[in-house]
Amino acid sequence: MNTIRLNTNEEDIRRAGEIIRSGGLVAFPTETVYGLGADALNAEAVASVYKAKGRPSDNPMIVHIAKMEDMDDLVDGGTFRISPYAKILAKQMWPGPLTMVLKKSASVPTVTTGGLDTVAIRMPMDETARSLIEAAGRPVAAPSANKSGRPSPTTAYDVLEDMDGRIDAVIMGGQCDVGIESTVVDMTGDEPVILRPGIVTKEWLEGVLGCEVHYDKALVTDEGTEKEAMRTAPDQGGPAPKSPGMKYTHYSPKAKVRLIAGDDETFGNRVMELGVEAFREGLKPAILEYGNDPNKAAHKLFADLRELDRQGYDIIFIRAIDTKGAGFGVMNRMIKSAGYDIVK
Ligand code: AMP
Ligand code: MG
Repeated sequence: MNTIRLNTNEEDIRRAGEIIRSGGLVAFPTETVYGLGADALNAEAVASVYKAKGRPSDNPMIVHIAKMEDMDDLVDGGTFRISPYAKILAKQMWPGPLTMVLKKSASVPTVTTGGLDTVAIRMPMDETARSLIEAAGRPVAAPSANKSGRPSPTTAYDVLEDMDGRIDAVIMGGQCDVGIESTVVDMTGDEPVILRPGIVTKEWLEGVLGCEVHYDKALVTDEGTEKEAMRTAPDQGGPAPKSPGMKYTHYSPKAKVRLIAGDDETFGNRVMELGVEAFREGLKPAILEYGNDPNKAAHKLFADLRELDRQGYDIIFIRAIDTKGAGFGVMNRMIKSAGYDIVK
């Protein structure tokens, strides 16, 4: 298949919309990462997204909408029936990097939701993304536009690296602002539960809602603290996450990744030891360190992992980031890209 490169002009967006309407796949920029879009209501089109990505079929997709009315047909009983908290978040946080899990309507095929009776919905902020959804004239199911397991793409070139020849088109937009995927929050219970952390933090949501917001227990320790969160892989005795996608290995470059925690001195010493060891084994090591700026780390992490692969590094030492605020979401990606290999 020849993957068409499209621009962000009106005519190309219209063309991209037509491709989606006729059951095809188009990768497009959003403010978080690039998405691989298909008509969310067309089961066959959605099935071909799983195939193009090599994504496990129990890992549901986020359905992207352009305006509030688009949600009506997707949720059980229409927008009118969603909880007051969900209404507030839709109003205050959309468009933006927040995904809400709600009870689904019969219109959403189960292949889109990985067999669940809930649907994840987001209204992206990115203008190109919203114009594409409008041009398609239907909700767009879009996981990240990478091959399953690889770091999410934050540029059109990253998308082509994984998907050239496997999808109908790519919209060649710029680099994504946020750089990690949206915060996913389950709104089906009495109080919201964060299933996947992101730059929209727990504190931010609590401030907007005036109620307590919880983390899925797979993200935190028994005491509910974030500090030692997510340290054990689900298949090695760690807790099973509620969000199907959170249990898979993820975000991995070709190079081996090791996450190094600790203060400046510990970090320096460890990198020295491990670096020397790597050289002895004939491996080319690289170091990624982001200081204390979680937004910058989010913006750069996936792009850096892909770039280091291109430059032929064999092993990447990432310095663990403080898990305060948005750092929690970044740390979640770091831990997974390291395959839970954390050097203390
Ligand atoms: P991606 O599309 O690669 O950004 O991943 C989407 C994330 O949203 C995955 O972690 C999914 O497991 C999660 N997700 C999507 N739909 C649902 C749902 N109905 N319930 C729980 N998690 C969901
Ligand atoms: Mg993904």
